[in-house]
Amino acid sequence: MFFSNLQRAISESSYWNVNLKPKQVKCLEAIYLGRDVVAVLPTGYGKSIIFHLLPVLLFGKVNSAPFQSCGTIHPIVIVVSPLNALIQDQIRRSNQGSIKAAILNVKKKENSDDVELDLADSNSSLLREGRYELVFTHPEAVLSCKEGLELLRSSPYQRSVQAIVIDEAHCILEWGDDFRKDYSHLGMLCAIFPNVPVVALTATASKTDISTIKKSLTLRNPLEVIGNPNRPNIYYKKVFREGEDVDFFEELLAPIAHDLKVKTVNYPITIMYLPLRWCGFAFKFFEKRLGNKQYYPSNAKQSPENRLFAQYHAPQTSTMKDQILKELSSSVSKVRVVFATVAMGMGVDIPSIRTVIHVGPPRTVREYFQETGRAGRDGKQAHALLYYNNRDIARNRTGMSDDVRSFCQLEDGCLRKFLLNCLDARVPDRKGPSHYCCSYCESTCKCLDCIA
Ligand SMILES: [Zn+2]
Repeated sequence: MFFSNLQRAISESSYWNVNLKPKQVKCLEAIYLGRDVVAVLPTGYGKSIIFHLLPVLLFGKVNSAPFQSCGTIHPIVIVVSPLNALIQDQIRRSNQGSIKAAILNVKKKENSDDVELDLADSNSSLLREGRYELVFTHPEAVLSCKEGLELLRSSPYQRSVQAIVIDEAHCILEWGDDFRKDYSHLGMLCAIFPNVPVVALTATASKTDISTIKKSLTLRNPLEVIGNPNRPNIYYKKVFREGEDVDFFEELLAPIAHDLKVKTVNYPITIMYLPLRWCGFAFKFFEKRLGNKQYYPSNAKQSPENRLFAQYHAPQTSTMKDQILKELSSSVSKVRVVFATVAMGMGVDIPSIRTVIHVGPPRTVREYFQETGRAGRDGKQAHALLYYNNRDIARNRTGMSDDVRSFCQLEDGCLRKFLLNCLDARVPDRKGPSHYCCSYCESTCKCLDCIA
């Protein structure tokens, strides 16, 4: 029954021509059998296919004997996701198939810190009646919002919710104390639907991370589906930088600006993660250096969607952020360089990012792996470049992990091996010359090209 229901789910989704990978099938089968799942699958593996297939897959289950109760049940799958941009991307994807998807969102009440439901993006009566099959939401919309909670406790939801998916589950590890507190209370959401399987999905997590996620969501004997997070097509390099001043940034940015001016839309897509105040600096620097060549084609309307570079950070409106992600996801993106703070790109399917540059490391190896993993999702060669200084890894730097400190200080070892060890992952044998691996392996590579 599982496989015939799965076939039907595939044919009705926007993934009708997909060949599912064994670990995707393993996750789907466990959920079908009502079991909780923790899946750690590398970026680009296709985690979101799992929840896109669930509504139809579970329809087949709940409406067949011996599960069938009175009347047909149209299963609802709740997907908790951290960012609106991510959700919009998933809803677009869902609309290409026959699954009805909506967002259960919240907004701040006027003159108050409280939140209320914001159903402007969805048909609110259909949402209240439980007529959407995939309901995307944030932890805040269901845990800090009375209306959101009431909605989930209402009979259409109590009757029809058949699975809960926590996408980007590493957010539970990174957030929760002072920022987006509801991330640490997601166990409460699971408790509203006590007999429904819960699925936690993430790209990177060590053994300790997995046990924290399991505890936080109060999962019951979940099936752990763990893929190797290694991304063989990414080359890692780290560079010590003296200071964090105008000279350093000008030196870093000038060659990129020069190449972008020459290559325009053929410049390899590059994401540069840097502190907020330097985002603005870099943007202005590029405006000045590219002058009237900053738009493509150069006689195009001088509007953000025609500009070869962009910035992406918290103070921007979500429409502007969505616009950048949409442009980057298209096969003919005019945006080639993005200056971003860390919020950029999480989970969004942008296949052709060639280079990810960090000015200053993130706090944990998991975050670093996750962010660099946005490069090369198309499987082609990509680069991850980290600039760090002693201030970045100073002892008094809050939240900076010892693993990241040791990574920056590592002088005589493979960077990939170090990162994978921190994530408790096996280091696979390398295919091809080792100069494609990292700056250390490149320096010790003895292949014919390297010794010539
Ligand atoms: Zn290496």
